[in-house]
Amino acid sequence: MNILVVGGGGREHAITAALARSRKDPYIYAVMSKKNPGIAHLCEDFLLEKETNVEKVVEFAVRNNIQIAVIGPEAPLAAGLADALEDAGISTAGPKKAVAEIEFNKAWARNFMKDNNIAGCPEFEVFNEKEAMFAFIEKLGDVAIKPAGLTGGKGVKVMGDQLPDIDAAKEYAAGLLSGDRVVVEENLKGEEFTLQAFVDGEHLAFMPTVQDHKRAFESDLGPNTGGMGSYNAPGELLPFLIEDDVIQAKQIMKDTVAALKKVTGVGYKGTLYGQFMITANGPKVIEFNARFGDPEAMNVLPLLETDYVDVLSAMVTGTLDKLDVKFSGKATVCKYAVPAGYPDNPTKDREVVVGDIGDALLFYSSVYEKDNKVYTTGSRAVAVVGMADSIAGAEEIAQNALENISGDLHSRRDIGKKDLIQRRIDHMKAIRG
Ligand code: AMP
Repeated sequence: MNILVVGGGGREHAITAALARSRKDPYIYAVMSKKNPGIAHLCEDFLLEKETNVEKVVEFAVRNNIQIAVIGPEAPLAAGLADALEDAGISTAGPKKAVAEIEFNKAWARNFMKDNNIAGCPEFEVFNEKEAMFAFIEKLGDVAIKPAGLTGGKGVKVMGDQLPDIDAAKEYAAGLLSGDRVVVEENLKGEEFTLQAFVDGEHLAFMPTVQDHKRAFESDLGPNTGGMGSYNAPGELLPFLIEDDVIQAKQIMKDTVAALKKVTGVGYKGTLYGQFMITANGPKVIEFNARFGDPEAMNVLPLLETDYVDVLSAMVTGTLDKLDVKFSGKATVCKYAVPAGYPDNPTKDREVVVGDIGDALLFYSSVYEKDNKVYTTGSRAVAVVGMADSIAGAEEIAQNALENISGDLHSRRDIGKKDLIQRRIDHMKAIRG
C-alpha cells in the first residue's frame, strides 16, 4: 500500500513513525515545506512543497499511486486539500473543508455548537463592531478574546496575566477587530486536557487523554506557544480527571460528529481533537481541532498497538466500529526543545546536535538539514518522548534525553514532574469543591 503523509513537523514525524511500524510495510511518501530529516529517512520519496499548494500535492499523490493520504496540519485542510484528494480518487484521513471549518473558523464553531445544543459550550458572542462588543465584555466581566480565524493558538488572550483588566481586554479585542471578527467568551476556570479520536464519518475510536503545556516557561509563565510538551498517565485518565469527565467529553465529541454530518451533509473523516476545560460544572469545550495536536500526537501514536494502517483503512471506509483500536496503557512524557527566545524573539539557523538519547523517542519538528547537519528555523525544533509504566519513569527518560541534545535551545524541565502534576490535582480538587 502507498500512503502519503502531508506535513513536516513533529506531529507528522510521529505519524510517519507509526506507519513505519506497521506490519503491512506500506510505502510511505511525504509532502513537506522543509526537509524534516526524521520523515525523509522513513520515506520512499518526498516532495518539498508548501502543504497548501493543493494542485502540486494532488499531482504528487496521483503520480505515486497513493491509496490513503493523511493530512497533519490545519492549513492544508483549510485550503481544501482533503476535498481535492478525494476528487482525484484518493481516500483521505483528514476532513473536508466543510467540516474542518470547526477548527479554522472559531465563530462558526461556537455558533454550530449553540445551534445544535452541543453540551460544554461556554457563554459567547461573535462581534464585528466595537460598541456591542465592549458592552458584552463588561457584562461577562472575565473573558477570553479570540480572533475568529486560524492563529496557531497564539491569537487568543485570556484575562489574568495576559490581559490584566477589562480595559486591557477591550483594547486587545478592539485591535483584533480591524483584521477579523472577534469571539468573546466567558473565562473558563479549571484544568485543561486533550481528547483525540479517530473518526470514520460516523464512528469514533478514542485515544488516551493528554495534557499539553502552552506557556513558554516553567510554572506556566510567559507567552503562549504552540505547546512546550505534554504527558499522559497509565491507562486512559490523567491524574486530575475522574471517569465521568471523560464520559461527558466523549459524548460531546460523538454529538459533534453526528451534528457535523447533519448540518453539512459531509461525514467527518480524520482525527478530531477536543480541547476541554474541566470546570466546576464539568467539561467545557475550549476548541476543536480538525487534526492531531502537536505535541499530543507524539504521546498517543507511540502507544497505538493496533496497526495504524488498519486504523486508517477503517477510517476511510467507515468501518472503525468493526476494529478494536487498542493502546498499550503506558505513560508518556513529551518535551520540546525550542530555540532560545521562542516564541517572541527566537534565534535561528543554529545547529542542533543529538547525542545519546537512551530509550527516548526523538521527533524532529521545525528544523532543516544541510550538509548532514541539522539547524533550527525559529520554531519548535525537536521533541523527545519517554515511555514507561509511570509518569515519573517516562519523565526521567525524556529529561535524560534532553540533556544530551545541544544547541541554542530552551525546554521546560517541569513537564511531567511530580510537583507540577500535584498542583494540577490540588487545583482540580479546589475547583470541584
Ligand atoms: P485556543 O487557541 O482556543 O486553543 O486557545 C489558546 C489557549 O487559551 C487555550 O489553551 C486556553 O488555555 C486558553 N483559552 C481559550 N479559550 C478560553 C476560555 N474560554 N477560557 C479560558 N481559557 C481559554
